[in-house]
Amino acid sequence: PLSLLKDPSLFKTDALVNGQWLKGASRFDVLDPATGRKLADVANLGAQDAEAAIAAANAAWPAWRSQTAKQRHAILMNWFQLLMANQDDLGRLMTAEQGKPLAEARGEVAYGASFVEWFAEEAKRVNGETLAQYDNNRRVIVLKQPIGVCAAITPWNFPLAMITRKVAPALAAGCPVVIKPAELTPLTALAAAELAVRAGIPAGVLNMLSADSTNSIAIGKVLCASDVVRHLSFTGSTEVGRILMAQSAPTVKKLSLELGGNAPFIVFDDADIDSAVEGAMASKYRNAGQTCVCSNRLYVQDAVYDEFVQKFSAKVKQLKVGNGFEDGVVQGPLIEDAAVDKVARHVADAVAKGGKLQVGGRKLQGQFFEPTVISDATADMLCAREETFGPLAPVFRFKTEQEAIAAANNTEFGLASYFYSRDVGRIFRVAEALEYGMVGINAGVISTEHVPFGGVKQSGLGREGSSHGMEEYVEMKYLCLGDI
Ligand code: ADP
Repeated sequence: PLSLLKDPSLFKTDALVNGQWLKGASRFDVLDPATGRKLADVANLGAQDAEAAIAAANAAWPAWRSQTAKQRHAILMNWFQLLMANQDDLGRLMTAEQGKPLAEARGEVAYGASFVEWFAEEAKRVNGETLAQYDNNRRVIVLKQPIGVCAAITPWNFPLAMITRKVAPALAAGCPVVIKPAELTPLTALAAAELAVRAGIPAGVLNMLSADSTNSIAIGKVLCASDVVRHLSFTGSTEVGRILMAQSAPTVKKLSLELGGNAPFIVFDDADIDSAVEGAMASKYRNAGQTCVCSNRLYVQDAVYDEFVQKFSAKVKQLKVGNGFEDGVVQGPLIEDAAVDKVARHVADAVAKGGKLQVGGRKLQGQFFEPTVISDATADMLCAREETFGPLAPVFRFKTEQEAIAAANNTEFGLASYFYSRDVGRIFRVAEALEYGMVGINAGVISTEHVPFGGVKQSGLGREGSSHGMEEYVEMKYLCLGDI
């Protein structure tokens, strides 16, 4: 599939530090999850390269922050346009290394690029404040200034978008960045870095350290320990988020963390059931269930339970599983064997505890797993507590609104939640009671660059996207002008 790139020079396998493409002291393999075949060997950078990248970013900072907002806007718009002009090639790279169907990969390219466009626009609107006087002899002004060198550590499930939604606001604010993309999906990331160079982002302002899992840990330590790195943005597991937070304590670094979820999807008996089924399909099976906002637990009210399970299962049966490059495929492989094992473990556990298999339930060849629905799910099952991160939908039955809210909130996570109802009173009651950063009401897909994306509780810190996404990358400075 990669021989079909329209622009073969986007197939980058070296890392980018200070405007130089580095081969690294060693290389690591990137595999196609659909076939297990090797796609590339990629530069495996280490701790010393991370030090060099931080130094390069710091050296590039004064010139970058002194550009006018409009100049940074223009460069970011170039990058946005180049990402979109190369949507097919980036999509192919993504499907090859990540597995998601090509149409979905192209969709992610547009979604990822939209953050670059959005923050290019926001670059021009980082306004400070002049506050009301508290003393006639003084004037009070608040400046907003770029925080400094920013680090981004990103996951494999959105190989492009998780990078752009951190990097675009940092660059727009006037900060240089050091990015450590996921070891399973560096090819999309390196192609995006190549396009950033072509867009005119100066040497040292955007550095991309590809590395295998061992070196990623070493690079993470350097990024956290560095006094020069003033902000770290991470998307990934809560477990790794906790490690990075602890490692960042000695330098009191500002952190943005987008961690695990355990999204509830609630269907009340006054809902439009067909619409709820559509929403559940999109929310659950997108990216083979491998997104942190995928619904993990479906709660359906007694009176509509059987109807929902029957209609939902009928739709799930029709999902075509296969290589993401094949026409009509809507579910690709899972990212690695461990991911397949986790889904299998959750299915076996649910069935052992009385769950009824409605559709699927089996591991297929390689890293493929059948889209699965299990009814009669109960709170003691693993899938009720842990994020499955795969194509399993357990459906729980509930009687009252209170019961559904309590069950939905009974988790340490608080990222996305969803519910379906047509009753306006219930909509406000439930939306306000859900302990989540995001609530989809009669909507199963809610991510866009316009909105503040993020979680509460152990799902993370900070928000990405919207005008608020910029706040993470600027510091306020209060100026008190006396003796007037
Ligand atoms: P996922 O659950 O998405 O596989 P991880 O949290 O394991 O997520 O990984 C997300 C990103 O964090 C990847 O880029 C990975 O290399 C990186 N990573 C994993 N462990 C560490 C660590 N201890 N220090 C720094 N980065 C890490």
